[in-house]
Amino acid sequence: MLKSVSPSVVAGYPMLNSALAQLDSAAEIYPVAPDVLDMLRQPQEMLHARLTIRMDDGARRSFPAWRCRYDDSRGPTKGGIRFHPAVCADEVQTLAFWMTFKCAVLDLPYGGGKGGVQVDARALSKTELERLSRAYVRAFARMIGPDRDIPAPDIATDSTIMGWMVDEYSTIVGAPSPAVITGKPIALGGSLGREDATGRGGFYVLADLAEALELPAGARVAVQGFGNMGQHFAQLMEHAGHRIVAVSDSRGAIYCASGLSVEALIAAKREGSVSVLAGRGGIEAIAPESLIGVPCDVLAPAALEGMVHSANAGKVQARIVLELANGPVTPDADMMLRERGITVIPDILANAGGVTVSYFEWVQNRQGLRWPLEDVRARLKQKVTHETQAICKLATERHVSLRRAAYAHGLCRLALAVGARGAI
Ligand code: NAD
Repeated sequence: MLKSVSPSVVAGYPMLNSALAQLDSAAEIYPVAPDVLDMLRQPQEMLHARLTIRMDDGARRSFPAWRCRYDDSRGPTKGGIRFHPAVCADEVQTLAFWMTFKCAVLDLPYGGGKGGVQVDARALSKTELERLSRAYVRAFARMIGPDRDIPAPDIATDSTIMGWMVDEYSTIVGAPSPAVITGKPIALGGSLGREDATGRGGFYVLADLAEALELPAGARVAVQGFGNMGQHFAQLMEHAGHRIVAVSDSRGAIYCASGLSVEALIAAKREGSVSVLAGRGGIEAIAPESLIGVPCDVLAPAALEGMVHSANAGKVQARIVLELANGPVTPDADMMLRERGITVIPDILANAGGVTVSYFEWVQNRQGLRWPLEDVRARLKQKVTHETQAICKLATERHVSLRRAAYAHGLCRLALAVGARGAI
């Protein structure tokens, strides 16, 4: 089951405060004016709303919801909407802070934003979910907009929900407004290639760093979280000749040293959980928390924040940790992994493929164009490779981690934008 406490509590630290430590650390590599750092220490705009909807049984129910526009120095803010029982203000602000850097790292003309509703979406019927999604847009319509703040899917929100949301927004403004939300169904102006973009982006980043990190052919890969992103990443890795040896979801985890079939895993997930495969053909059920420590070359946490922490970082056997989720490695665990010579590929680079193709979707909507799938993928590859190489070069030259280099790379672009806006 999904945990009903905040991941920031699970991880045992206030998320935004510890995320802000990245700012100071990046400023040691790329010094910026103190007033710029000061500005980036707090969100530009944060709104809290109560969403009240009618349930199918006729009763009213209210859910807390938030939307944060962290910083728009580089353009309209951009970031997903999460439906999860543990969503809280601290988490939304932290995710928006990370989005600010992610967009700067990929050089997208966006600032960072994020939204969330504290709800267990699985406990709602489809009609209740649609009412809640529409209520979210009504509550935050004054904050979002194609030139102001552009939401997208995140945990437990998908293209169907984005379709309802764009419909609600278009009704409010009285005109079709596809560019207000990305990750929409193709029929409403969604982009080809958006569905697998985040997993694909992570796959490209790893491929770009493969030589530098001496990634072996036929590498053993463990994926924590088998949702949208985890599935697409696993599929691409399998296709490239690597072996998926362990997978988990919120209901269980499995391990098989000789490799799991991704097709079978996807079918099992459709039945409810990857763990239904346990006991078949040498597949073992393992405790979900032990997935972090299975023998493998690449550990890809693709579920929630704070899943690799000080109590389990010592058990990691992988040489490479690819942060597909946002903030899956806590700061103290990050330091422990670094001391053990394990390379962490940071989230603001590893999972930036999703927002990059979201940007392509927004561009297509504004131009009234539809790009072929090959164009979307070629542009994604080109962008990811360019920025990965720049970050890798900076990390090598300055003898710093990929995370510090990525933050410094983003901070440089943010500081230039703040400076160019003038001082008055
Ligand atoms: P999703 O809802 O499709 O999948 C999440 C998966 O994690 C599910 O399979 C769920 O069962 C599993 N999970 C939940 N709790 C778990 C636990 N304790 N242990 C193991 N598995 C658990 O979400 P997603 O879109 O794949 O996103 C996953 C992560 O990636 C999130 O951190 C999200 O913010 C981040 N992310 C997603 C995108 C995107 O485009 N989808 C982009 C950037 C970052």
